[in-house]
Amino acid sequence: GQHSTPDYLKGLNPEQRLAVETTEGPVLVLAGAGTGKTRVLTTRIAHILATGKAFPSQILAVTFTNKAAREMKQRIGLLIGEGNVEGMPWLGTFHSIGVKLLRRHAELAGLKSDFTILDTDDVVRLIKQLIQAEGLDDKRWPAKQFAQMIDNWKNKGLGPDEIAEGDARSFGNGKGRQLYKAYQERLQTLNSCDFGDLLCHPIRIFRAYPDVLKEYHRKFKYILVDEYQDTNTAQYVWLRLLAQRPQSSPLEGEVPAKRAEGVAAEGTARSSNTSASSTAPRTPPDRASPGHPPLKGEGNRRPAPVNICCVGDDDQSIYGWRGAEVDNILRFDKDFPGATIIRLERNYRSTAHILGAASHLIAYNEGRFGKTLFTDRNDPEDDKVHVHAAWDSEEEARAIGEAIEAYQRQKHNLNDMAILVRASFQMRAFEDRFITLGLSYRVIGGPRFYERLEIRDALAFFRVVANSGDDLAFERIVNVPKRGLGEATIRQIHDTARALRIPMLEAAATLAESDELKPKPRAALREVAANFERWQKALETTPHTELAETILEESGYTDMWKNDRSADSPGRLENLKELIRSMEEYESLRSFLEHVALVMEAEQGESLDAVSIMTLHSAKGLEFETVFLPGWEEGLFPHQRALDEGGRSGLEEERRLAYVGLTRAKKNLHIWFVSNRLIHGLWQSTIPSRFLDELPETHVDVADSGNSYGGYGNPYGGGSFASGRGGGRKNPYGASRFDNIGAENSGSFSNTYATPGWQRAQANRTEATDRNWGTRSG
Ligand code: ATP
Ligand code: MG
Repeated sequence: GQHSTPDYLKGLNPEQRLAVETTEGPVLVLAGAGTGKTRVLTTRIAHILATGKAFPSQILAVTFTNKAAREMKQRIGLLIGEGNVEGMPWLGTFHSIGVKLLRRHAELAGLKSDFTILDTDDVVRLIKQLIQAEGLDDKRWPAKQFAQMIDNWKNKGLGPDEIAEGDARSFGNGKGRQLYKAYQERLQTLNSCDFGDLLCHPIRIFRAYPDVLKEYHRKFKYILVDEYQDTNTAQYVWLRLLAQRPQSSPLEGEVPAKRAEGVAAEGTARSSNTSASSTAPRTPPDRASPGHPPLKGEGNRRPAPVNICCVGDDDQSIYGWRGAEVDNILRFDKDFPGATIIRLERNYRSTAHILGAASHLIAYNEGRFGKTLFTDRNDPEDDKVHVHAAWDSEEEARAIGEAIEAYQRQKHNLNDMAILVRASFQMRAFEDRFITLGLSYRVIGGPRFYERLEIRDALAFFRVVANSGDDLAFERIVNVPKRGLGEATIRQIHDTARALRIPMLEAAATLAESDELKPKPRAALREVAANFERWQKALETTPHTELAETILEESGYTDMWKNDRSADSPGRLENLKELIRSMEEYESLRSFLEHVALVMEAEQGESLDAVSIMTLHSAKGLEFETVFLPGWEEGLFPHQRALDEGGRSGLEEERRLAYVGLTRAKKNLHIWFVSNRLIHGLWQSTIPSRFLDELPETHVDVADSGNSYGGYGNPYGGGSFASGRGGGRKNPYGASRFDNIGAENSGSFSNTYATPGWQRAQANRTEATDRNWGTRSG
């Protein structure tokens, strides 16, 4: 009925409302950031429940993170009352839903329902055993590398018999396929699975047991997916199996799907009016179709309509490096014929300046669908996007800390502010600075810097060197990297230490000289003891940062990560370098360790008013009043790895990440770049990110803050070395506006750290900073 619009529908714009009310048949909402896609999904679920179209248990809703799932549940509760949302067991991430499915049908995958899910460490250990069992050299054929290969295959939904011949041959003297098979068999014997199996097993079950699939076809009346642009092939196949019902076998007991013809037709017409005609789905030339495995029941039969609603934004596809296929969203109307495609073009999140900057930047990507975005917000009070320069990352952290405090004085909540970094090592400077300031912060989507595995390991080495009685630290690293010291040996060290009332390190040295141990562990212990003895001696003579580096090298710890082929090892190596760098600020190893102990003590609570620090990747879908984007320099953002790849696709994914970053901000947006950064252990002068040049002048304010050069006349005067950055790219201004800043900074001082010039600059800079943000007391 027209007469009584429920509250939860009020306030939606016509397109959003169409997306909510078109409950039957396939619907795709393809729209830019902040246009209310997630809000549409949430309201759609509320609508389905409120109108009694389905029970909570009949809705399958996929979010990108567990946190997003919790939030969605909460918001639905707010819309239609807590009691109505109870038991939405199928609202979660692909993985959490996958576990639930697999527990129910474990036996069909050769598992028991109490199977365990192995973590990466377990997986690697297991693969190593298999490699050795095959008689292969596990140094030449590292287990980590094969674990990564398996993960890639599973992201594509490929079992051992489905992988390409070439892929199978490339590892282990052509034994790739055999190893993959052995691995799966071994998992089965152990009643275990890995993360990839959480999707791959259900896919296999659905294919092999049509009756089981049918059960879910009956069960899930409505399917909804957020962030559809970042689904990988396995997730895509999994979804299609659940969503596509073959026409020829109508499911008994199913309510015939009402097609809502009128609405759908209207929707299609509407979308083609606004934008669809000029931007009909096309596959960007550089993204070849991945060739999805055929789906059962696909054949020639026309699939029956299904009530699936996916929302996403091709411009926010940022997980290509993990196997996501943006094509999944671009071919939606082929997969689900008759789909209603809805465009949302009004952005409710950001100011016109922020939106203008983001839209202009993303337009530099070629392989894109293209869409319009507008906002009704037009407040002349709104700030432009600020771009700031700093000398180095310490100054950047200091200035951002001051900016945050200035906002705080204007009664902004810390909860409304976020710092989004490209690489996790960048977090360290902010965490340190905020601890000094006593500013609450939380790190989202990962541990805080000093709590990271590799940092804790490194610190454990340093702690033992500084204090040989630190048994906890010793125990952590005595067998890191792996030296074949098993539990029995470690227990023996323990016993000896207790019996003789000496530290474990000493006990280890004693044991190494006795004949109580087998030759192998004895040799290993002898090496450990000798290492620490040498490092402890060096502590008196060698600068502590140098020693720290030596320790990580001589212990084999750095090499351990260098040989590690997993996706996160480059990040870990960066973190280690950042750790060493941060030690420079302390006089001695001991004072540094004291500082760390204090930092580790600082608590972080959920309910606290705190600034969020996170990577750009984990900021997807979120929004904040005020956003800081530090580190916009070539090599960091866009990241060197993307640049090294060459070609367009890596760079375009970086640009999409920049777009995600810019569009997280509602009101205030501050972008920073520094002129000097430690790269590969050397201070280097950096070049401002090309993305800065891609921001439109009209929406950007190049702020003179945190700089030593006391203002410059015309920031747009054109730079002198824009051409030095590899011509080809489009630069609307002919020359880089930001090169001036970089040039001036790196020109006036030598590129080595801590020259007298640098210190002078430092003093000036503090003044400039204070001018801009108001002087902090104290
Ligand atoms: P992203 O692409 O970043 O995930 P999104 O398209 O999912 O963004 P939402 O997060 O759903 O966008 O919405 C962005 C903001 O706009 C939210 O604060 C939301 O509450 C608000 N919003 C959405 N639609 C409306 C509306 N019709 N009226 C008022 N505010 C709205
Ligand atoms: Mg969203």
